[in-house]
Formats: sequence, structure tokens, C-alpha cells
Amino acid sequence: MTVHGTDGRACDVLVIGGGPAGSTAATLLARDGYDVVLLEKDEHPRFHIGESLLPCNLPLLRDLGVLEQVEAMGVYKPGAEFVSDIDDRCVPFPFRYAIGAKTDHAYQVVRADFDALLFRNAGRHGATTRENIRVLSVQFQSGQRARVRTRDNAGTEQVYEPRFVLDASGRDGLLSAQTGRQANKKNSTAAIFGHFRNVPRRAGDMGGYISIHLVKDGWFWMIPLPDGVMSVGFVGDKVAYRDHKGPVTELFWKKVAQSPSVAERMNAAQALSPLSTTSNYSYCAQKAWGEGYYLIGDAYAFLDPVFSSGVLLAMRSAYRGAGVARAWLRDPVEGRRVAARAERRTQREMRRIAWLIYRINTPVLRMLFLNPRNILRMRDAIISLLAGDFAAGWRVMAPFSAFKAIVGVTWFRKKLRRSF
Ligand SMILES: Cc1cc2nc3c(=O)[nH]c(=O)nc-3n(C[C@H](O)[C@H](O)[C@H](O)COP(=O)(O)OP(=O)(O)OC[C@H]3O[C@@H](n4cnc5c(N)ncnc54)[C@H](O)[C@@H]3O)c2cc1C
Repeated sequence: MTVHGTDGRACDVLVIGGGPAGSTAATLLARDGYDVVLLEKDEHPRFHIGESLLPCNLPLLRDLGVLEQVEAMGVYKPGAEFVSDIDDRCVPFPFRYAIGAKTDHAYQVVRADFDALLFRNAGRHGATTRENIRVLSVQFQSGQRARVRTRDNAGTEQVYEPRFVLDASGRDGLLSAQTGRQANKKNSTAAIFGHFRNVPRRAGDMGGYISIHLVKDGWFWMIPLPDGVMSVGFVGDKVAYRDHKGPVTELFWKKVAQSPSVAERMNAAQALSPLSTTSNYSYCAQKAWGEGYYLIGDAYAFLDPVFSSGVLLAMRSAYRGAGVARAWLRDPVEGRRVAARAERRTQREMRRIAWLIYRINTPVLRMLFLNPRNILRMRDAIISLLAGDFAAGWRVMAPFSAFKAIVGVTWFRKKLRRSF
């Protein structure tokens, strides 16, 4: 093993991880003229799950200068459809009804291509991008530059000495492994997924819709991708997995067979490769920042992906993370203030969408969600959140609060009725 010198390579900002969060932050900072190093342990293009984007991603992609390429590589997505076997309902939520919508569609992408595009874009804007390099450890020393130890695939170690570190290492959570991470015990799920051929899309205008099938013990996604491919995944809670013995592939097909609406579409499906699995539990790091660093994207927090919010949340937190780095490099006192504010904003956005996510499979919310009435524009407010408007103002939040109140009252009345 070779170790290059004791003096590390100095830079302004070192970004750990070249997914959407890391590449976004690196692009923004390099564009401003900072000396940025972006390190990725794998090599792009590499597989990643999370293929359905939201309309609110589009202004960010435009700002980064990659929107045209995403339009060319993606499947046009004008809305999201929710299907429930239990309630025997199928409800489309077209993004064009979002309140104050500037964009009425999004795209669904092969993440290998999308992530490679964002990573190369960071390089084009002047970041030093390196693949096949894993960050092993980060040492923070009061009043001095951090020491970041890395190793490449050939076993060569190198030290970097940045003035500021952005951790965008995704669910690996390099820094939160040291500082602590809180798992959401109520959302302990796992996903089984793959790419398929011969899965019919919806007809006409709905051909590009993502379908979310709410089933017993979990939900399925069906995401139309280019070249007639359909990404299909089952996300199940503990109950779904508890009694199953044998390969997960069997469980996947068992779950398909148990859902009439999914089984009908998967009738002639052909898997393009063996199915993959991932545990899916939600979590949040104990803190988003410390002296000389800030966590962005999944490295900070992860929510159940039922509303396809992950990439957008990751990119939005990357914009904030870049702001924290800029402030810190100017003056750490200002940096601390900006970091605390950025963390509060990210938490507030996540709380808003989490409220829907963690209630979607409760009977009351599912019933109201699948029978959307547009009184007071409550349906449109829900669509605004489904489109990714997590920082929405009162025009969305007032009708959404009314919806929440109705959910609360309905739940209470049902409970009262049961107790008599
Ligand atoms: C089952 C499932 C379905 C999902 N579906 C959707 C969806 O439809 N839409 C959506 O928007 N989101 C979805 N998501 C969430 C989405 O995938 C993530 O939120 C998103 O990828 C987060 O981006 P990120 O950049 O923070 O992390 P990542 O995309 O995970 O990127 C992190 C990068 O860091 C690298 N890395 C890690 N450790 C190191 C290290 N030590 N040194 C160097 N590099 C390192 C990794 O190799 C990786 O490339 C889904 C997630 C799951 C689990």
C-alpha cells in the first residue's frame, strides 16, 4: 500500500460521495470559483435505485445546466397515480393542478445515467472529480483543516486537507456513523425491485405516470423508464417479511399474486436481471453539522420513498449545504448561524411530506386520499406536495392544514363510534 506524503492535498471544500447531493453541491461551489474536490467510491455510470423525479426538481436541473440532457434521457411524467385493491380505487394526481405550479411535469430516469450526468457536470464546472476513491475517515482538529484519509481501488492512500467538508455519502452516512443516527422504528421496511419488460403502461396521457399500488403490508411502485422498461418494486413492512422463508424473489412474486391490480399488469412480465433488495428504514442523523462540516442528502436523513421525494430533498439540501460552506469559508461564526438555519429548513420540509408518508397506509388517510375532494383546494394542495413543493407558503399550507384537520376529525369520530 502506498501512502502519499504526510502533507495532504489542500482544497476549500471536499465533498464525500458523487450522488445527486454531492454532485449538486460540488457544481454550485466550483461554479463560484472555490477549489472543490468531489470523491466517489464507485465508478459512474453505476446502478442506483430512485428513478422517479418530481416537478420541483426541474428548476434545479435548469440552474445546474443539465435540464436539456435530462429531458432527452427521461420519460415524461405528468403525474402520479395511486391504486388501492383494498378500496378498489385508482386515482390520478396530475401535476398541472398543483397550486402556483410553474412546472406541470417531471421525468423518470435511469439513475446510472442521471447520476453520471450530474457528476460529470460538476467536473465541467471546475470541481476536481475522482472516482474509485473511498473516504476512509475524517479527522477534525480545532482551528485547523480537517484531515480526510482516502484509498483508491489499487490500495493507494491519500490525505486531503479541506477547509470544509460536505458529507454526501448517502445511506452509508460516513460522518453520522460517528455522531449518531436515529432510526424511525415505525418505518422499518425493505424493498425488492428490478427492471422488467412486457409490463403495460397506462393508456394515453397517463403513459408516463408513476403508479403506486397500495397493498396489504406495503406498496408497489411501477415506474416507466426509456426503451419500454418498467421499474417495479415492492416495499414491505415487517409483517410482509416476518413469516416468509426462502428466497426474496419468491416473496416478490407472492406479493404480486396477492394484489389483483399488480398481478394484472405483471401477467407477462419478464425480469431483465435478478431482483435486488435493500433495507429501507427511515432515519435522521442526530445533527446536520459540526465544526467544519455539514451533512446533505441521504447522509443526513432518509424518508420512505413512496412519494419519490428522495432526489429532490437531496438536491435541495445540497443547495443549502453549498450555502453553509460558502458562509463557513468566509467566517465560521456566520457559518454556524447559516448551518443551524439550513438544518431547521431541511427538517421542516421533511416533516411536511413525512406527515403524509407515514399515514398513507392508515385507513382514514387512505380513504380521504383516494377520494380527493377539491373543497378549499385541498386536493390541489396535496398535489403541490406530491410535486415537491415542500417549502410552500400559505396558499398550499392553509388547504393542506384543512385536510389534516379533516383527517383528525374523521379518525376521532371513528374511534368514538367504535367505543360505543
Ligand atoms: C427502494 C428505494 C426507492 C427509491 N425511489 C426513489 C424515487 O423514485 N425517487 C426519488 O427521488 N428517490 C427515491 N429514493 C431515494 C433516493 O434514491 C435517494 O434519496 C437519493 O439517491 C439520495 O441522493 P444522495 O446523493 O444523498 O445519496 P446517493 O445517491 O446514495 O449517493 C451517495 C454516493 O456516495 C458514495 N459514497 C458512499 N460512501 C462513500 C465514501 N466513503 N467515499 C466516497 N464515496 C462514497 C456512494 O457510492 C454514492 O454514489 C429511493 C430509495 C430507495 C431505497
